[in-house]
Amino acid sequence: MHTLIEAGLRRPWYQLRLPDALETQYRAETVRASGLYMQSWLAVFGLFNILSLVMDHDVFGPEAFHVPFGLTMGVFCPVALAAILSLQGRPTMVRMTVAALATALVDIAIVLNSARLAPPTHAQAYVIIAAIVPLVVGMIAPMPFRHALWYCSASLALYAGLVLGFNLAETSSSGLPLLVSGLILVPLKLCYSREWEAKRTFLIGLRERLQSEALARANARLTVLSETDPLTTLSNRRHFSDRLEPAWREAGEAGTWLGLLLVDIDHFKLLNDAAGHQEGDRCLIAVAGALATSVEARGGLAARYGGEEFVALLPGATFDAALEAAEAVRAAVAALALPHPGLSRGARLAVSIGATAAHGPTRALGIEAAGLLKAADLALYTAKSEGRDRVSTLAPAANANLRPPSMAAAANQSLAAESP
Ligand code: GH3
Ligand code: MG
Ligand code: MG
Repeated sequence: MHTLIEAGLRRPWYQLRLPDALETQYRAETVRASGLYMQSWLAVFGLFNILSLVMDHDVFGPEAFHVPFGLTMGVFCPVALAAILSLQGRPTMVRMTVAALATALVDIAIVLNSARLAPPTHAQAYVIIAAIVPLVVGMIAPMPFRHALWYCSASLALYAGLVLGFNLAETSSSGLPLLVSGLILVPLKLCYSREWEAKRTFLIGLRERLQSEALARANARLTVLSETDPLTTLSNRRHFSDRLEPAWREAGEAGTWLGLLLVDIDHFKLLNDAAGHQEGDRCLIAVAGALATSVEARGGLAARYGGEEFVALLPGATFDAALEAAEAVRAAVAALALPHPGLSRGARLAVSIGATAAHGPTRALGIEAAGLLKAADLALYTAKSEGRDRVSTLAPAANANLRPPSMAAAANQSLAAESP
């Protein structure tokens, strides 16, 4: 598309048409505005014709006024109205040109008819006005240059035909009407320049649009990259840290709970040493997958915290729910049944998990997001020291007097296990 646009912008002056795909898009994007623009101008033009009846009245006098009046109100106005109505919605270019042409031709004929019937002193004025009509309509109608060519030719042909047919050439022998009708070159030039300029503006706008879309896509990709751990494709620590504080704030505002798990693979260094770093990577990916499945099923966010440590944020999880989620993660990793060649024969890869949760309103009592992380870390330490492959829980420090029974029991258990 970029190449097409550049080619369009560099095309030679005589080549108004854009490459096909762009031409279609240009028309699709401009046609509605052009239709509305032309409708409004045709309405103004119609109004001008009605106002010109004042001149007709002065020229023709009350006895003969019915002729221009009848033609204007009975023929011109219905044609102009039909032209305006035909441009409703999304008119084609052809329809717009036909509307302009019909309006102009009818008006030329009516004005030249007035020239024929008016007293000789006024005939010339009508002949000149009739020459100006296609000029004005041609200038207001946003026709493609191609259409302007046949619009101008048809108008000029009718004008010349009627001037000769009504024998008006003699009345206006000054040559002025001929000069005025030569001005039909003005809408031709205008339509050319307008189409060229409109297409140039369209191409530049399209190029800018595509560039900003590409930029937005690149930015979105950069955001994803900056929040993703490349090995496991889980969220990375940065993204987790960005989410922790807002999640705790939201829990405070909504009066809900927030659970947090810290997951650490047991004896991972031994696995690396025995099976190699690549095998270690494969295990990290598998554990990450199991963790993500369990956590995301509970509406949480799983992230790689660093090395062989993971973290999970569980909005809405009470202390019991956090414990249940932790057990589910541990079971999911166990179900992977990944061999651990660094331990005894038949040993499987396992994880230890520190789990915690806090009730949002305790935020006002001084429990901080970092306090949840600290509690989970202490609980993880407990799980490791109690023999690994297990879950340990601990409530965040300043939360002690607000713990529900199950929470208090679990926390006491953890604290008891910590003490020597
Ligand atoms: P513990 O049960 O106490 O957690 O023991 P551990 O061996 O799992 O813990 P330790 O902190 O001693 O070792 C962690 C190891 O994780 C060390 C490091 O080589 C390995 N590790 C960290 N990041 C990666 C990684 O991206 N890929 C692989 N293959 N190994 C990693
Ligand atoms: Mg470990
Ligand atoms: Mg570790």
